[in-house]
Amino acid sequence: MPSKKSPTTFAELNLIEPLKLALTAAGYTHPTPIQSQAIPSLLEGRDLLGCAQTGTGKTAAFALPILHRLVESNKKALPRHARVLVLTPTRELAIQVNESFLTYAKNLNLKFAVVFGGVGQAPQVKALSQGVDVLVATPGRLMDLIEQGFIKLSSLEVFVLDEADRMLDMGFIHDIKKVLKLLPAKRHNLFFSATMPPDIEKLANSILVNPVRVEVTPVSSTAELISQSVMFVDRENKRPLLKHILQDALLTRVIVFSRTKHGANKIVDYLAIAGIIAEAIHGNKSQSARQRALENFRSGKTRVLIATDIAARGIDIDDISHVINYDLPNESESYVHRIGRTARAGASGVAISFCDSEEKIFLKDIEKLIGKRIPLVDDQPFHSQVVVDSKLLSAGKAKTLIDGRNNRPNNAFRRGPRKNFKKN
Ligand code: AMP
Repeated sequence: MPSKKSPTTFAELNLIEPLKLALTAAGYTHPTPIQSQAIPSLLEGRDLLGCAQTGTGKTAAFALPILHRLVESNKKALPRHARVLVLTPTRELAIQVNESFLTYAKNLNLKFAVVFGGVGQAPQVKALSQGVDVLVATPGRLMDLIEQGFIKLSSLEVFVLDEADRMLDMGFIHDIKKVLKLLPAKRHNLFFSATMPPDIEKLANSILVNPVRVEVTPVSSTAELISQSVMFVDRENKRPLLKHILQDALLTRVIVFSRTKHGANKIVDYLAIAGIIAEAIHGNKSQSARQRALENFRSGKTRVLIATDIAARGIDIDDISHVINYDLPNESESYVHRIGRTARAGASGVAISFCDSEEKIFLKDIEKLIGKRIPLVDDQPFHSQVVVDSKLLSAGKAKTLIDGRNNRPNNAFRRGPRKNFKKN
């Protein structure tokens, strides 16, 4: 934590005027906690270790001081070189981060490029040929382009590793190490991760020099504004239960999480037969199909998006009314990331989790992580006593859950916090 009091207005942050104007145009009035904590140190050129997830405003927290310093230093990128590299785990996040840079830099004369796999490389090669000030990239495509000589990192000034924990989950550690070897020793390093397990801490220590640590919204505290509930349901009844829930028009914009890509496709097909239009987004879809699905969802053309964890991570879409965990994640932290898709920017949201008997162990882990019981809702047509009785949760505990529930019929998935859910 920085020792000085963190600024609470953008004016106090002393950013250059063109950035302030862009922020006003984007409708930002006050910095978010990570922005007021991180920006002063980053403007001084300090390395930074940021423990923050998407939705906290972390992109602006690093993009604004980077842009400020790029302008102040008044250098020019060499052909086929980048001055700033932001590595992100997914294509969607790369596109979003690049869009954020473009928004904040709209009054600046700087060059940007974004590169990721799954699409032809020719336009990316062209964009890099004259050199760029800021390059946002996913690791695989970046390495491909480096190996072909289309981009060099030897004059890099700033290195940003975004969502480091997800990078490691996705097996990018070797690519990251290769990239690190290509960077000049003297550089400015920024490292962001939603969680800080020991392997991430180790990676951070190998990159950062005397970093400032900034931590916001620890992963174990789920947003208070999200009304969470769990429904016990046998596996074979999950699809009918989903259909039943989606028939309520109050669910205006819904992300449904499926553990597998195949499962996501099957849900889409099932809902289509029931007349509910949904689209899937996962790693087996082409880049254009993923972008189209996101666009349709963003514009409201599709009400329901079925996603896998990796595809959904980092998607920044406002006004998601409901998150449905069709499958409970086996990594508890994914639960926090998933439900964080709703209740963005102070809005309230609803997260409903389906749990079959095999998933009760995951439920237990999640409740341990978030430090509270997720209220059980059994006033739904597919409630399973088998799951209630299954062994992983003791009978006594299951009873407490049921007794503690809110008994309004079929109101479990209505928007807004449920006041009479007991928080423990
Ligand atoms: P991020 O955590 O970087 O993905 O940002 C989440 C969302 O918050 C994005 O839609 C940003 O445009 C928005 N945002 C970031 N900073 C601010 C701010 N200071 N005021 C209002 N919105 C912001």
